Order: sequence, then C-alpha cells, then structure tokens
Amino acid sequence: MNVLLLYPRFPKSFWSFEKTIELMGRKALIPPLGLITVAAILPQEWNYKLVDLNVREVTEAEWSWSEMVICSAMIVQKPDLLAQIQEAKRRGKRVAVGGPYATALPHEVTQVGADYLILDEGELTIPLFVEAINQGQMSGIFRAPNGERPDVTSTPVPRFELLEFDAYAEMSVQFSRGCPFQCEFCDIIVLYGRKPRTKAPAQLLKELDYLYELGWRRSIFMVDDNFIGNKRNVKLLLKELLPWMIEHKYPFSFATEASVDLAGDQELMDMMVKCNFGAVFLGIETPDEESLALTQKHQNTRSSLSEAVNNITKSGIRVMAGFIIGFDGEKTGAGNRIVKFVEQTDIPTAVFSMLQALPDTALWHRLTKEGRMRVEGANINQTTLMNFVPTRPLEEIACEYMDAFDELYEPSKFLDRTYRHFLTLGTATYPDKGKGRKKPFSWVVLRALLIICWRQGVVRSTRWQFWRNLWSMQQINPGGVGSYLGVCAQIEHFLEYRGIVRREIGTQLAEFLAEEARLKVAEASVEKVAVAETAA
Ligand code: SF4
Repeated sequence: MNVLLLYPRFPKSFWSFEKTIELMGRKALIPPLGLITVAAILPQEWNYKLVDLNVREVTEAEWSWSEMVICSAMIVQKPDLLAQIQEAKRRGKRVAVGGPYATALPHEVTQVGADYLILDEGELTIPLFVEAINQGQMSGIFRAPNGERPDVTSTPVPRFELLEFDAYAEMSVQFSRGCPFQCEFCDIIVLYGRKPRTKAPAQLLKELDYLYELGWRRSIFMVDDNFIGNKRNVKLLLKELLPWMIEHKYPFSFATEASVDLAGDQELMDMMVKCNFGAVFLGIETPDEESLALTQKHQNTRSSLSEAVNNITKSGIRVMAGFIIGFDGEKTGAGNRIVKFVEQTDIPTAVFSMLQALPDTALWHRLTKEGRMRVEGANINQTTLMNFVPTRPLEEIACEYMDAFDELYEPSKFLDRTYRHFLTLGTATYPDKGKGRKKPFSWVVLRALLIICWRQGVVRSTRWQFWRNLWSMQQINPGGVGSYLGVCAQIEHFLEYRGIVRREIGTQLAEFLAEEARLKVAEASVEKVAVAETAA
C-alpha cells in the first residue's frame, strides 16, 4: 500500500513566525510529529511519503503514486484539511483522517467525504483501522474502546527520516501526554486526560539517538502539553538525559511547555538547564486572580506569578507565555493589565488571544448549557472573534485585545523588554555544556545576522536602541548574544502579525456590530407591528 501522509497548512498565526522562519532560511517552525508517529505504528511493509503543505505542494507524481491519503490536523488547520480531503477524493483516493480536530468534530470531516476516521490516540485505533483495511472495508470510524488511553511506553520511535530536515526551524519529540490540572477552557485534558502518561527515559533517548544518527544538530521542541505533569518521571528522564548530552557534546538545545509550578522546584529547573533546556512556554493566561479562579486555573493563584517568572528566568530558562482576554466576570482594562504584567516581568514573547470555547471542553459545555454559544462548529484562531457571548461587551474586549497587541509589539518596548529579560537570564552555564563542540560556520546564520542588523540597526527608527542594547549585551553576557538576537528577530513577525490582528478582528467586529444593529431594527419593527395589531 502506498500511503501519502498529508499535513494541512496553518493560517498565519502568532505561532507561525513566517518572517522569522524566512530569515533563518527555513519553511516551517516544527514538523508534524503526529504523522511520523502514525507512520511508525502503521504496518512497516507499507510505503510512505510525507508532504507538509506548510513546506511545499504535493507533486503530480506523488498524487499518482498514492493509493491512500492520511491526514492529521488541529482545529486551526480546518480550512486546509477540508480542502485537501476534497482534493484527494476528487482524484479518486481513499482518505483517512485523525488528529485533534477530527476527534473533536468527526461529523465535519465525514461531511466532506473522508472514508476512515482514526480518532482518539493512534496506538489504540490504528490497529483497528489496519484490521478493517485487511478485511477490505471501504470506510469506518475507529474510536478507543471505552474511552481508554494507551500506555505510551510502547509507542515506537517516530519515522523521522520521512521529514525534510532543512525545512524546519526546530525538531519535535514528545515525552508525555496529558496534564494533571483542570483549566476550564483546555482541550488537552479532554483529548489526553488528567493522568500524565510518560515514555520511558530509554525510549526517549532512542528517539534522540535516531535524530543524532540522521544528522539533526539544532533545537528540539519537547511538545508535551505539560512537560512537568509528572515531575518524578521527568526527573528520571533528565537524570539519564544529562550523561547522554555530555557524551554527545550537547548536540541539541531544548524548549518545552510547562505549568507555572515549575518555578517552585529549583532542583527540576537546574536539571533542565544542565540538559540544555533554554526556553519554556508558560500558560499564565491573566494576572486577574478572580479570572484564574473562575477558569479553574488554581495552580496560577497559589503564589506570585511575577515571582514565578522571575525565578524561572533567573535559573537560566527563557520564558515565553500565553495570555487570554475575555474570561467571565472580567473587569474593564484586562488588556492593559496584561500589558503591564508582561512589561513588569520582561517576558519578550507573549502569545495573546481572545478566549474561545473549544469543542467538548468544560467551558464549551457550560456555555452551551447557558445558551451562550455564538458560533456553531469550529473556526478558531487568534484572529477570530470570541465564539460565545461574553459577560462584558464583545466590542470592548475586542478593542482592548487589538490595543494590547499593538502595545506589546511596539518595537521599542519589545527591544527593551527582550534586553532586560536576557540580563535576568544571566549567564547560567555548566562546565560540560558544549565543551569541545565546534559550531560549524553557516551562511544561513550569517545571512540572518546581516538582515537583522540591516533592518533593526539601520532602517528602523529604533536603530540606536538596537545597537546600544546589543553592545551592552556583548559586554555583560557575550555567550547569550546569539539567542538574544534570535529573539530580537521575532519582532519582524510580530510587526506584520499585529497588523493582521487589527485588520481581521476589526473587520469581524464591524460585521458583528452591523448585524447587532440590524437585529435591533428588526426587533423594534416586530414590536411596532405587534403593538399596532393589539391596538387594532
Ligand atoms: S495547565 Fe495547561 S495543559 Fe494543563 S489543564 Fe491547564 S491549560 Fe491545559
């Protein structure tokens, strides 16, 4: 069987980082780890080709070669996923679909003609799909029996060799699935449960061995939903990872996602730094405690959030953080409070979005019960209006959102925030880190450096600030200059993206307000007719 694994396009989003990726000479941020894991679980005697549409188009030869097309997608990839299913069907292919979007809203996928739905986690449902194929079934929906979740200790090493390595800014691996917390808006716990399941340390090292053997020598994103969901097991991993990193002369750096309670475990942070974890994404959401309590993000209310950010940064791990506006009961000015918090804590990369109720989450169920869902189905990203009726006016939230985005990514503020962050980050280094490893000269890096210096050090009005900060960084923390410039380069993306946010949210808001006005007029005329009829 010839299988074409197809990964749909992402819309332009905060996370797509097009401009920055382009600067680095890459095509996409991270590869589709799910699809290469699927390829490892499916029968190994089948043939596989993978096309990430964020990297390139499918060739005619690939379409002709394939007998079956398998797609996997997240909710934000919905438009392109549906288009790809239709294209594959038009070409007479059998189509199987899995991943978070199909699992959450299977009917939307079957409506456009997918033949097989491989839902929930592949370790349990792919064998059911293969059995159906072997029996000659032409369609089917495969779900985990009794809502079971697989033990990931038997998940095979992903088929990394199917990837075009040069296209990606970072590689991705996964150690755990699930998260012990219960944030009301979170779909991770719906998809993967609240009991974190981890791989065995030796299993993950085998994946790193394979990446090393294939020649990967750059950054790796540990795509766990919450890397520290099971602290005991993560420490066991780090204990075995450290000698591996030393033996291989630190070939990779790591980044990951974690809950804020990371800040309370100095031993864990030190172990991560020693293993070359350079950055962590934290879900801070909002500095408003009432909102955090209401959304059940209690872990963020147990100690000071700004101290937590400071502790992690001081330990040597760069902090990226996510923020959300539009929680129930939220008071006017939430956008400003978020900007103030980001400025006070010097977080360079702050991901900001309006609250959305994702399918099947606790929030979605509550809002549905309260009759507050505004939009059916899912077309959700950072440039769509909230899909439910909030407790304060939607236009107020949308305007605060657009203004806060503008302010967060005002070039001068971003440059200074990044500079201050790298000062706090300090020079946490360990004796063995990188020792003996020569970084090969790279034209791509040199080209990126020259472009950053041209755009930020010559063209833009913040040029003096750029050179002053860079000179000072070179004096204080010369070892951190490379990654400092890497973060400075992100403003190229943010400047473009904040324009997109204002344009798209502004357009949808105008349509929403016009619709509201139309409804009011219609209601008023219905009332008038009713009064006239009563009078008659
Ligand atoms: S901490 Fe993050 S992953 Fe865990 S439940 Fe909350 S939002 Fe979801």
